[in-house]
Amino acid sequence: MENTAIKKKIVLSAIQPTGTPTLGNYLGALKNWKDMSEGEYDCLYAVADLHSLTVRPEPADLRRRTLEMYAILLALGIDPEKNIVFIQSHVPQHAQLSWLLSCCTQFGEAARMTQFKDKSEKHPENVNVGLFTYPILMAADILLYQTDFVPIGEDQKQHLEIARDIAERFNTVYGNTFKLPEPFIGKIGARVKSLQDPTQKMSKSDPNPKGYISMLDEDSVIVKKIKSAVTDSEAKVRYAEGKDGINNLMGIYSCCTGKTYDEIEKEFDGKGYGDFKSAVAEAVVEELRPFKSEFNRLMNDKSYLTKCAEIGAERAGRLAQRTLSKAMKKTGLFQL
Ligand code: ATP
Ligand code: MG
Repeated sequence: MENTAIKKKIVLSAIQPTGTPTLGNYLGALKNWKDMSEGEYDCLYAVADLHSLTVRPEPADLRRRTLEMYAILLALGIDPEKNIVFIQSHVPQHAQLSWLLSCCTQFGEAARMTQFKDKSEKHPENVNVGLFTYPILMAADILLYQTDFVPIGEDQKQHLEIARDIAERFNTVYGNTFKLPEPFIGKIGARVKSLQDPTQKMSKSDPNPKGYISMLDEDSVIVKKIKSAVTDSEAKVRYAEGKDGINNLMGIYSCCTGKTYDEIEKEFDGKGYGDFKSAVAEAVVEELRPFKSEFNRLMNDKSYLTKCAEIGAERAGRLAQRTLSKAMKKTGLFQL
């Protein structure tokens, strides 16, 4: 990836191993990760295990889920030779840069982050400082690689903005060090909503599993969850304000089939929600089928997965060190 003749744009994104990714993660982020990994860009993808410590997972669960998440990335079809796929904690430069950046972040700007407010309301028993500094570690993830584009869902837009603000401040104070990253937000899948409360985003940490479709749910479970998705009483498949449940299902269907909202409205003209839900369920099952079988195959080959993770960490570490050294030097930290 370092010796390409024409320098490609750099893409970086990360996902926390807090649970099996949902259809929201898939349509909002992972599907774009896969598409972007196919040649046009130099991509780095990470399992953000350090970030997930903010919700204090059971150590055994974290270990298992980290490898599972790594397998999920490869099962999407992301080639670990053409791209850099790694586990965040294996590259210590992330935590190191995070400290430099936290000294360039104002308390007030971090306090404005809506994810911090949401998550501290949801988990009042564990409002740790890591939850507060989460976006600074995320800024380090991105800025270490001189990233051009960050494929994310809408919910992470504010975090990308703060990463740019921090980078800009560092560059102003110490001289040009970091590239300012741009978000890459896919249109329709950017904000998949909970099936049970379509005003809230679908989240893999939702305590009610009926609210989300996990990428590894059995086909019959997917069908059941979509059939029991909350809708409205109009019984007409159309995209409109106030029809959050139907809008959400239309977004999902559109992402899985490539059909526009107009085409979907025509397809289900005169039909009820039952027919529509069956079609959505079928489309989701088909979309996830190849991924699921590849995941199962990879999980039976742990030595291959760890070997890939080792190579990924080594390649990411080399790139990260360049930026870290530059940043450390600029701040005036004494160099040996
Ligand atoms: P958690 O509840 O643990 O924060 P999460 O589902 O929000 O889990 P993350 O690991 O925080 O998942 O995010 C991974 C990626 O998925 C991010 O790019 C995020 O923007 C995207 N994403 C998360 N939820 C959705 C959603 N409902 N719709 C679209 N994209 C989403
Ligand atoms: Mg999240």
